[in-house]
Amino acid sequence: MVGSCGNDEALAPRGDINIREPVQLDAVGTAQPFTLSNNVEVSSGCGAPGTAELTAEFEKYFPGGTVIQVELRRPVDAFSLTVLFGPSGAGKSTALRCLAGLDRPERGVIRFGDEIWFDAARGIFLPPQRRRIGYLFQDYALFPHLRVAENIGYGLGKVAASERQKRIEEITALLGLVGLEGYYPRQLSGGQQQRVALARALVCRPRLLLLDEPLSALDAPTREHLRRQLRDWLVELQMSTVLVTHDRIEALALGDHVVIFEAGRVRQSGSVQQVFSAPLDFAVARIVGVDTIERGRVVQVADGFATIEVGPKQITALARSRRKGGPDGEVYVCIHAEDVMVDLPYAPGGRTRLGKSGADPMQSGATNQLLGHIRSMHREGPMVRVNLDCGFPLKAMVTNQACQNMGLRERDEIVATVNAQAIHLIACD
Ligand code: ADP
Repeated sequence: MVGSCGNDEALAPRGDINIREPVQLDAVGTAQPFTLSNNVEVSSGCGAPGTAELTAEFEKYFPGGTVIQVELRRPVDAFSLTVLFGPSGAGKSTALRCLAGLDRPERGVIRFGDEIWFDAARGIFLPPQRRRIGYLFQDYALFPHLRVAENIGYGLGKVAASERQKRIEEITALLGLVGLEGYYPRQLSGGQQQRVALARALVCRPRLLLLDEPLSALDAPTREHLRRQLRDWLVELQMSTVLVTHDRIEALALGDHVVIFEAGRVRQSGSVQQVFSAPLDFAVARIVGVDTIERGRVVQVADGFATIEVGPKQITALARSRRKGGPDGEVYVCIHAEDVMVDLPYAPGGRTRLGKSGADPMQSGATNQLLGHIRSMHREGPMVRVNLDCGFPLKAMVTNQACQNMGLRERDEIVATVNAQAIHLIACD
């Protein structure tokens, strides 16, 4: 955890700082001066959640040639949770560490409102303590020799005793830690330890909270439980947050805004809904977990709809979802499994829904109905992932109950239904 209400701490060393272990926080205070230009105002004390915008545009170079390029612009004057999302090794944690001041980029600028946290050209580097942020490591990093209340109060520094007590009580109540104040970390479950670590980061009322894979060390049931609570707490506190995760469910459940990282670069950013439903390119579509990505060819565009040949089939998509490319352009057809409905080809009562001679059912307006069969089925909790062959591979998610009701089995003939607006097209480069 980084973050303190004290405003007179000694300054951190220039260059990269390793304060992963909590006991090293004190050691940071013995460091050398940093360069701060005269016109940089660093406010003092513990403020209310900020009224500012975070802007970052920087590069971090690692030995061996790895370059992490970061571009980020987020308002932080009202609650917003920004997720840095992407595969392992994409550069998310490095981006977060640079925002925190734990790593020092080689090029660029980081600003928080009127404050300059980092400016390579001007030799400015504000150390973590002066940024007044909260930072949470993956593995909690609690002080093992301090009880829960002491761990939580650690960062409060010189805050007066009565205020200190009040704040600890408030955050303990909010995070459901009442009764555990006298326990040592080793006496707590993983979920409780994580809540203590979060309380310790929040008790200082940081202007920005940075969370690095905060739920990854927890077992699955605890993770799901805490995930649901985490956003509620942050909303309650109106705490602007930047969170790193490689977990798609976590990104979707927690984020308002997402920044997609791949191979050290930001590939796309926007609202979670927008980026996950309309990835800009093939790489982002893969990263956000689009289940079906098939190559097709646009053969017609009319009345706002595009007709696309995919394998031997034709499907209809909203034409607006094409980014570029002519009417006969090659495209990637992107379909999320949860947007595919699976049905038996025969309606109840034995009335056929098929076209003549086993052709696909009639396309009704903007709805695609594709005849196919089930290749395989895989249970995933309450859902079943169904791999279909509809002339091209198509993936669907069906509730377990629906599978049982229809008696779905491998090799069964089915009709897959996909609305045109649920199909996103990406022009092939
Ligand atoms: P992510 O958080 O997305 O998993 P990281 O930011 O941890 O990714 O790492 C991004 C890349 O930077 C990786 O290729 C990693 O090997 C490299 N990297 C991170 N830290 C160092 C370091 N201290 N020295 C050399 N390379 C590093």
